[in-house]
Amino acid sequence: MHINDAVFLEDLCPKFRFRQWRKSIHRFTGKSCIYCGKPSESIDHVLPRSQGGLSTTENCVPACLSCNGDKSDENALYWYRRQKFYDPRRAMAIRAWLEGDLRLAIRLLQWANPDFKIANKNYEKDESEYNAA
Ligand SMILES: [Zn+2]
Repeated sequence: MHINDAVFLEDLCPKFRFRQWRKSIHRFTGKSCIYCGKPSESIDHVLPRSQGGLSTTENCVPACLSCNGDKSDENALYWYRRQKFYDPRRAMAIRAWLEGDLRLAIRLLQWANPDFKIANKNYEKDESEYNAA
């Protein structure tokens, strides 16, 4: 009953669900911009909404305002390649993210930035289960 109530509440309050979803996106990267590693202050659509990009986890990455604003309506991978802070490991992470493989994306981001801290407890839990199997 309790679970059914919670689902009902989320359906009733799409804004609440949206806020939770945004938070979870930032948590995946420890609140750092997927492009440059600075603190993420926004959610960027990899394929811009103007080109039919959806607001799904696979198409939405944490980004700082600078990257998000500079990239604007461009395709993220083409834009990223031209940046001074371009890092092939991050480019691979973005590709993995787009394919829905967040585990691989996070690993690549960790490789690109050894100081990277995982803030997502669920991810850590998944990882230990994976190792045990
Ligand atoms: Zn950035």
